[in-house]
Amino acid sequence: MAENNAGAKEVKELGEFGLIEHLTKDIKLKHKSSIKGVGDDAAVLNYSNKQIVVTTDLLTEGVHFDLMYVPIKHLGYKAVMINLSDVYAMNATPKQITVSIAVSGKFSLDAIELLYEGIHLACESYNVDLIGGDTCSSLTGLTISITAIGEVDKGKEVYRNGAKIGDLICVSGDLGGAYAGLQVLEREKAVYKVNPNSQPDMSAYDYVLERQLKPEARIDIVEELAKINIIPTAMIDISDGLSSEIIHICKQSKCGAKISEAKLPIHDQTIAVAEEFDLDPTLFAMNGGEDYELLFTLNPEDAAKANQIADISIIGEILPEAEGIKLHGKGEGFTHIKAQGWNAYEE
Ligand code: ADP
Ligand code: MG
Repeated sequence: MAENNAGAKEVKELGEFGLIEHLTKDIKLKHKSSIKGVGDDAAVLNYSNKQIVVTTDLLTEGVHFDLMYVPIKHLGYKAVMINLSDVYAMNATPKQITVSIAVSGKFSLDAIELLYEGIHLACESYNVDLIGGDTCSSLTGLTISITAIGEVDKGKEVYRNGAKIGDLICVSGDLGGAYAGLQVLEREKAVYKVNPNSQPDMSAYDYVLERQLKPEARIDIVEELAKINIIPTAMIDISDGLSSEIIHICKQSKCGAKISEAKLPIHDQTIAVAEEFDLDPTLFAMNGGEDYELLFTLNPEDAAKANQIADISIIGEILPEAEGIKLHGKGEGFTHIKAQGWNAYEE
């Protein structure tokens, strides 16, 4: 990459302060609540009488991402999305982020610039101010930690613990696509290792690759729900897979749940990839993870109103705790949902 940009300065030449200045010089703060951004010992915010939500995620190269197949600009964008998704899952609106990076010597300045292009693009698209962070070197690889700060009117925040018996279980978008994309990328990586000249045709996988590489946090769902005056009783974002998220809601709300396999929203391309890998698409949807969709529960009285929102599926119902957490198959039987290792033949 650096060859394309002969004469460009490298990270080492810029030094820490030069790099920070370089990455943050064009930032224009958008929000009234952002009083002071980058450039002092700390940022200053003023949220007057709003509730503030704060969330952090840490991503490490080799554990959370693989730069063999993740374009670094996409990584920057996705790192922001992961955090914004957590803010939306509280029914809140993100306003600021901080970004901290630890960078090893193998990264060119171009690569870090691209990472920040992705971060700035996410901030523009989702109307968020980048107000600070930290920068240091690392012995191996790249680590990114983002903190997002958002606001919500008092009483409108939504926790994982508010689901009630009889509530409808809803999910936005479709599930399993990000995992399908990951399967394809891992396969191509293995092929590349054997034959670096291979030029795979990925056009049949465009949707699932986008789900894996460029997820979008569901600001639209939170806005639509607010517009029709619906506050979910409980909400969580789907980062680890539907199984594990419904278990979080049920444990915290002290209830059980029934989900219908036939109602799981799964994109055609996800189904095709699952079939190609000889795997069950339901498995992708239940345990895949990284979809960054919203899973929430609604008072059944809100069902008709919620049906006005196009991209929501009602997939089940909250039950008494003693009923357990179950997935009803397309035939007669059901299985108990477990956080990991969902097994279609258990019962
Ligand atoms: P300190 O020594 O107090 O940690 P720094 O020199 O690390 O200060 O940071 C100077 C300013 O630049 C601060 O406002 C900080 O929030 C911001 N900053 C540092 N690193 C980053 C980064 N990677 N992205 C955005 N802002 C950053
Ligand atoms: Mg610092």
